[in-house]
Amino acid sequence: MKTESMTLLGWQERFGTEEICLEQLIRYRWPDGFICPHCGHDQGYFIGGRHIYQCTACTRQVSVTAGTIFEASKLPLVKWFWAIYLMASDKGGISALRLAQQIEVSCITAHRMLRKIRQAMGHRDSLYRLGDLIEVDDALVGGRHTGGKRGRGAEGKTPILVAVENRGEKAGHVAMEAVASVTHKAVRAFAKRHINPAQLVRSDALASLSSLGETQHHAARVTPAGKAGEWLPWVHITIGNLKAFLLGTYHGVSGKYLQEYLNEFCYRFNRRRVLHELPLRLLNSCVQHVPIRHAGLC
Ligand SMILES: [Zn+2]
Repeated sequence: MKTESMTLLGWQERFGTEEICLEQLIRYRWPDGFICPHCGHDQGYFIGGRHIYQCTACTRQVSVTAGTIFEASKLPLVKWFWAIYLMASDKGGISALRLAQQIEVSCITAHRMLRKIRQAMGHRDSLYRLGDLIEVDDALVGGRHTGGKRGRGAEGKTPILVAVENRGEKAGHVAMEAVASVTHKAVRAFAKRHINPAQLVRSDALASLSSLGETQHHAARVTPAGKAGEWLPWVHITIGNLKAFLLGTYHGVSGKYLQEYLNEFCYRFNRRRVLHELPLRLLNSCVQHVPIRHAGLC
């Protein structure tokens, strides 16, 4: 489905005030007008804090932000909407420091906002399963230095599993997960979450990747360093891009937050051909997301 592209001025026009943001949210939530989730009545009015709707029939209260990443946040919606725009329109991703300066919030708040947006990105992509010919590999990333393959310079780095659809001359969708270690169990769970059953899956000959064969048509090959590009071209290019992204914008990422950065990388990568549509798509992903509490309130 085609989504509209948005310029900065267009965004300001459409989401420039708190009232408009709230109206947009209501429209997302109730495209055909308010329906009370408790009794089904179709009349309600705002009370107190303007994010609460009260049903005129059963008088129960309904939060307009429930089920979105803005739920329980005290920040103005307009700041949230700008954070989404800035994150989506900045090519390499925006740092918490820069976001804090741009929308006038503390650095801690900006950091929490970005975490929630990245989690919404991961949630949206988790609805997709990779298919057809898929390359799977592991890598070590994060920490201060560029990641390597298993065994070399592994201190402070986190293992990740990566799957990429090989569409011949181009890559399709990608999925990435940080794991405690690359075990049969982790590989099995990764395949279940991200790959449709019975696809053609390629990997190198690492023993723990053999569990891919339990649910997939798995083909493993010993791949000497110089030849890896022939058997697994797209997964290696993608891992290279990820490392550049982590170093370029975020100057290395600690293991604790790595999955969220992987979410952001995959979300952008999977929409790289519709980058101009990203602001509205991301807004949509954030509005339809279940609330995330463990990132703290902001
Ligand atoms: Zn009601």
